[in-house]
Amino acid sequence: MRVVVLGAGFAGLELSSRLSEELGDETDVVLIDKTAGFVFGFSKLDVMFGRTTADAVFHPYADFVKPGVQFVQTAITSIDATNKRVETDAGTFEGDILVIGLGADLDPAATPGLLEGGYEFYTEAGAFALRDVLAEFDGGRVVIGVTRPPFKCPPAPSETALMMHDLLVRKGVRDRSEITLVMPFPVPIPPAPDASQALLTAFEEHGITWMPERGVRALDPARRVAILTDDTEVPHDLFLGIPVHVAPPVVIESGLTVDGWIPVDPATLATAYPDVYAVGDVTSVGTPKAGVFSEGQAKVVADEIIARHRGQDTASYDGRGICYFEFGDGKVGKVDVVFLPGQPPVGTLAGPSIDLAGDKAEFGATRARRWFGQEWSNF
Ligand SMILES: Cc1cc2nc3c(=O)[nH]c(=O)nc-3n(C[C@H](O)[C@H](O)[C@H](O)COP(=O)(O)OP(=O)(O)OC[C@H]3O[C@@H](n4cnc5c(N)ncnc54)[C@H](O)[C@@H]3O)c2cc1C
Repeated sequence: MRVVVLGAGFAGLELSSRLSEELGDETDVVLIDKTAGFVFGFSKLDVMFGRTTADAVFHPYADFVKPGVQFVQTAITSIDATNKRVETDAGTFEGDILVIGLGADLDPAATPGLLEGGYEFYTEAGAFALRDVLAEFDGGRVVIGVTRPPFKCPPAPSETALMMHDLLVRKGVRDRSEITLVMPFPVPIPPAPDASQALLTAFEEHGITWMPERGVRALDPARRVAILTDDTEVPHDLFLGIPVHVAPPVVIESGLTVDGWIPVDPATLATAYPDVYAVGDVTSVGTPKAGVFSEGQAKVVADEIIARHRGQDTASYDGRGICYFEFGDGKVGKVDVVFLPGQPPVGTLAGPSIDLAGDKAEFGATRARRWFGQEWSNF
């Protein structure tokens, strides 16, 4: 049974690892990605705030060596879900099962002036380039702004505001700086009231201006203002934006999307096409776009494939994810949240604390060890 896995992000890496661990040489997996290696989302913040370097957070796929898994670095140019066949720059691949884990792409051009008047930090290139910009920044009005939902890792803009506060304090320029956070939500992490309240308290303590329930629709580079969806104008010296998220073009062109994302059965991650699954950020499954959820969904699909191979039954997706988020001052908070179809999400907060920074480091380290055979730490 050949499994073709599209995308080697959180979802594709977990799915391929689990199939290989359980089935060994009996498995026949082709894992395809256009890039040469993987970078954890949280590493983007670590690089941009000068905690580490771009080289240190890059995990080459050449190190992803698993029995029964063949990694192919190439761009996927079309997906034929009916025939479970994909075209790539390296030729055609056909599977008995197709799993689509191609993530979410970013479209900075959808927000006029974003790249002319500001920066984005959601791509690797954008975050890594900001390392020098932030190192040289001498204080002033900083605006961190979300364009519109959905966007990856909902706590990340709040983390960025708190890390920015720490950076400006370290530089000795916090007194002559302002930090404003613009988010299209009523609270920072809507499914987790405790975590949201803790963040709002931290914003107040640190003098961070919180502007909820609106997004950034444009920047006017000449006047150095961000124009929000309610037409408010926010002046800035440094603008850090979260661009509009879209499914990768190859997914949209395949006709698999409805309202921009691939619909799936929330219990099984099955698409409308037999033996075609979609997992993670590319779907509209209802969980936030975050690596922990992509990984959890990949496990369910892997278990389904393993069970089919062994003629057994499987469990369905439980919608659970644990997110660590930076709280400033070296502290980290942990939200444990469950999303079940038709029910309001339930999230609980632990921390923030210095100890949880160790748990977050272990989260990255276990995956670097398991996926890439590397001893690695994000500190
Ligand atoms: C600043 C920031 C901080 C974050 N922090 C966290 C965090 O602390 N915890 C957390 O859980 N999540 C975090 N995230 C979110 C997390 O990075 C993503 O949600 C996660 O990577 C999604 O996993 P995925 O497998 O669905 O997609 P991805 O990891 O995006 O993988 C998709 C893969 O598909 C490949 N691909 C796309 N198109 C093609 C094509 N045409 N041909 C070939 N390959 C293609 C891409 O190269 C990519 O490798 C953060 C994100 C950001 C931006």
